[in-house]
Amino acid sequence: MKVVFLDRDGVINSNANHYYVYKENDFELNAGVLKSLKQMIKNGYALIIISNQGGISKKIYNKQDLEKLNNYMLEIFAKANIQITETYYCPHHSDIEKCICRKPDSLLLEKAVARFNVDIESSVMIGDSDRDVLAAEKIGIKGLKVKANADLFDEIAKSKFAFLIA
Ligand SMILES: [Mg+2]
Ligand SMILES: [Zn+2]
Repeated sequence: MKVVFLDRDGVINSNANHYYVYKENDFELNAGVLKSLKQMIKNGYALIIISNQGGISKKIYNKQDLEKLNNYMLEIFAKANIQITETYYCPHHSDIEKCICRKPDSLLLEKAVARFNVDIESSVMIGDSDRDVLAAEKIGIKGLKVKANADLFDEIAKSKFAFLIA
């Protein structure tokens, strides 16, 4: 299947005021997100979230906090008729421990590709950081770097990936 891979913090939700977002009260959707995701689904893309959550390694929050917030986010999307196929996250942080899943490493993307028979050619990764794009490019998936916490629809619309939301 064709997939739009999405980074979470800075793309889906704002991390302008809270670098580590793990509380429902701090979870604020960025502008244009619902509109963008709906249009991607309409255009036949599945949506998969790939997120670095190094705050777990740093013990700022734990896996339960992350999963609780993830469920909260999925509920918001479900109410808007947006189905997220899967959420993958890396709980490690390079300051604390080594791993091969934290972006710019590509293990989480590879897992998704294997599990969902992802068509590399027609899939795209959207992130707000170079490491999001690098992770995707490592396995031949095109990456789009958008401005953090900006209107996601506008960011995609002005890119060469405007077809995702056309
Ligand atoms: Mg980000
Ligand atoms: Zn990791």
